Amino acid sequence: MYLGDYIVIERQIAPFRFECRSVSTGTPFTAEVDDDKRHLFSDRSWIDRHPTACWFLRPDGDLIRCTIHRDSPAQCKFYRCVMMRVLSSTGEQVGTITETLALHSEDPALRAAYDDALWVIRDTDPEAEERLQEFLISRGFEIQ
Ligand code: SF4
Repeated sequence: MYLGDYIVIERQIAPFRFECRSVSTGTPFTAEVDDDKRHLFSDRSWIDRHPTACWFLRPDGDLIRCTIHRDSPAQCKFYRCVMMRVLSSTGEQVGTITETLALHSEDPALRAAYDDALWVIRDTDPEAEERLQEFLISRGFEIQ
């Protein structure tokens, strides 16, 4: 949500293809919007309201997605953006989960539920994101 100054588009070279620079490392990279996310990328209504966000970020239902998943720079692939906000049953945010399925939370109940989930969900499972989401919902959390 706050990487708009760090992932910079320098030039558009095709309708969905851009020459970019990762400002923190000074690394240039070419990014093409993923085929299955072009309809998301084409809708600018959300990004126009969030000027601090990385230009490639877009909402997709309840989730916020990177639309250049395949071509995102190395540091993004390592850290990944937050893909889930976890709320308590009272609607208070108690943690976030990144695209690497790492949990950031100080909430003991969420951490316990997450640890339980990792007993049954492998991060190599192609359905891991959906399964983790369902697991946390079954434990009384809300996911955004
Ligand atoms: S993961 Fe994607 S949306 Fe997030 S900062 Fe990197 S390029 Fe931008």
